[in-house]
Amino acid sequence: MNLHGHLSRIGRSKSFLLAVDFDGTLAPLVDDPDAATGDPTSMTLLADLAERAGITVAIVSGRTYADLERLVGLGPPVRLIGEHGNDLGGGADLDDGLLARIEEHFEAAADRLPGSFVERKRRTVAFHHRRAEEEAGEAVAASLADWALGLPDVVVTVGKKVVEAAVDSVHKGDAIVALRGELPDGPVVFLGDDTTDEHAFRALQEGDVGVKVGEGPTAADYRVGGIDGVREALAVLAASARR
Ligand SMILES: [Mg+2]
Repeated sequence: MNLHGHLSRIGRSKSFLLAVDFDGTLAPLVDDPDAATGDPTSMTLLADLAERAGITVAIVSGRTYADLERLVGLGPPVRLIGEHGNDLGGGADLDDGLLARIEEHFEAAADRLPGSFVERKRRTVAFHHRRAEEEAGEAVAASLADWALGLPDVVVTVGKKVVEAAVDSVHKGDAIVALRGELPDGPVVFLGDDTTDEHAFRALQEGDVGVKVGEGPTAADYRVGGIDGVREALAVLAASARR
């Protein structure tokens, strides 16, 4: 079945979960992370779908919940899931000492690379180099990733212009499993563009739909070229989900 057919079928099902990444999926990637804004049509479609019976809409992002609240412009009934699901609760006690050590090491690197900065989240330290010189940024990111991989029990993810080191962390796959557990039976649609979204694609089951946005290896069954393709996919769901 092609993507259009699969989405139409899910749209007509009694209930389903629509989970969507934010940056690079709903919002074009921009140099200043604070300037990200969702595609207006996609955001309207999400708000509209979330109002309909049996449909749960969630935006699942690596950003903090506060960041999402500020940038997304949508609230309930749209669910905002920050930090890859770490703010859904649960998980082990935090190892603050280890997080502090990672933060210190990442900060030292950021001090030496103009345009880079460190973001401390609940269970994660992220090194961003979107505004740094590209080659130097990639080199520093690779060395930080190597260093963090040597730490015990730290999960390292290299994304687009970001390295994240997570302690006792959950990933987007866990977020999908947790959301699925809260909801009535029904399929899941997930769309995302980055490495961290692969965890979510791998958590999908038969009958679900995973859509990779843009290039790169993926476990998703379908692919769209970019933000435009996401908008079209949401429009297909909205057209078939008449209630
Ligand atoms: Mg993304």
